[in-house]
Formats: sequence, C-alpha cells, structure tokens
Amino acid sequence: MTEPSVQAEPGSECVLCPPLRFRINAMAGLPGEPSVLERDRDFLLMPDVAPLTDGHLLLVTREHRQCAGDFDERLWDRALHWRDRVARLYRHAYGTGELLLFEHGPALPQGGGACIDHAHWHFVPGTPGVRGVVERQGLPGSPAGYAAVRARFRAGRSYLLIEERGTATVHSGDGVRGQFLRWAVAAALNGATAPGTAPAGGTWRWQETFGLPESRRRFLRTLRTLRRASAALDGPPRRDHHDDSHQ
Ligand SMILES: [Zn+2]
Ligand SMILES: [Zn+2]
Repeated sequence: MTEPSVQAEPGSECVLCPPLRFRINAMAGLPGEPSVLERDRDFLLMPDVAPLTDGHLLLVTREHRQCAGDFDERLWDRALHWRDRVARLYRHAYGTGELLLFEHGPALPQGGGACIDHAHWHFVPGTPGVRGVVERQGLPGSPAGYAAVRARFRAGRSYLLIEERGTATVHSGDGVRGQFLRWAVAAALNGATAPGTAPAGGTWRWQETFGLPESRRRFLRTLRTLRRASAALDGPPRRDHHDDSHQ
C-alpha cells in the first residue's frame, strides 16, 4: 500500500484541510464529514482514523495552522474548552472523565514531530502513563502551558505536549522519530516500555492500520458511542458572552 501524503503544504496538499480533509476516511471506507462529532467555528472533533484505543479523538483546527504553538491565545483557550468537553463525553461514554491529551508539535525538515502537519490534539480516555514512557526514553518534560508551547514553536523547535492526570508537560520533539507519541501511547497501553521496544502485538503508525478491519470497527464503535454521549449532553462548548463584545 502506498502511504498517503502527509505533506504540510497549506491548502491543496494538506489531508486535514479541504478538499482532502476526509480523503483518508474515504480510502478506508469510513464516514468522512458525517464522522465529525461536534464542531464550532474554530474546531472539528472527530475520531482518529486509526484509533489507538476506543475513544481516540482528534481536535482539528478548521483553518490550517501548523500546530497549537501557532495558536493565538483565544484559540488556545477555545481548545482548552474543547478538552473539558471531551472529558465530559468520556465520563458519559466510558465512566471516567480522565483523559490523555497529546500533540506532536510541528514537523521539522530535520525530522521529528507530527504525524500530520496540521494542528491537531489527540485525546484518549484514561491515563495510560504516557509521560513516564516518554521520560524513560530520555525526554524529560517541564510543566507547560500556552507560553511555553508558543515559545518553542516561535524558536523553530518541535515539541511533544502531554497532558495527563491534570498536568501538562512539554518535552523536546527535536529529532524524535515521526509518530513517536503514537508509539509512546501504544507502548503505555500495552505495557511495553523498555527503550526501543515495539508495543506488544501492536502497531502505532496510522498508515499501517487505518484500513484494517479491527481499526475500522474501533473507529465506528468510537463514533457510535460518543455520538450517543454527545446527544445526551448539552451541546458543544459555548463561546463566552463577552468573547465578541471585546474585540
Ligand atoms: Zn491543513
Ligand atoms: Zn497526530
């Protein structure tokens, strides 16, 4: 199978921008636009096309941005509201509001970073212990929020952002292999965390799994389960009243 293009060109080449936004879904015979669980003017929330576990979601900017370090403060704040929304969906669907948030910062010409070079946050229900896996790979993190992530991006550096058990840390993403965080999550979920060890019985590269029957079933199950949760809860996060009046 030929790997789908994950080039970063804004516009026509980006697989998370129109017109290619749902091309990968179509290649896998999965719903595209109808797989968007919720949306607002800034973001789309939808299942990862090759979910690492049930409930694996992506929060994707509607406009092309390279990464969350490329957000302004308003957009970052909106993304955090979406994080809280996902926690509510998970609590309803899976019985826990605990979640893992991860982002492989910007892809760099010298390697490292994103699986797709368009801003997206990954969400997985539960707290599998990904920070520990990443740190054991020699990538210590420091507590971080918007300013730290933005500073790394503006300095032309890549980063790994992990929020787990209510704490966000940023780790250097310079030189790490592509999809390193997908590997780390798969390793944490499978308990195989020795340096360089592949997760037991699994693969993490989305290009290798996105069309396979088990992956497709997981995608569709995630969509069904979270659609029910979405319908049962109030709508997507509301924009604060004053948002528009102070611009
Ligand atoms: Zn894009
Ligand atoms: Zn990704």
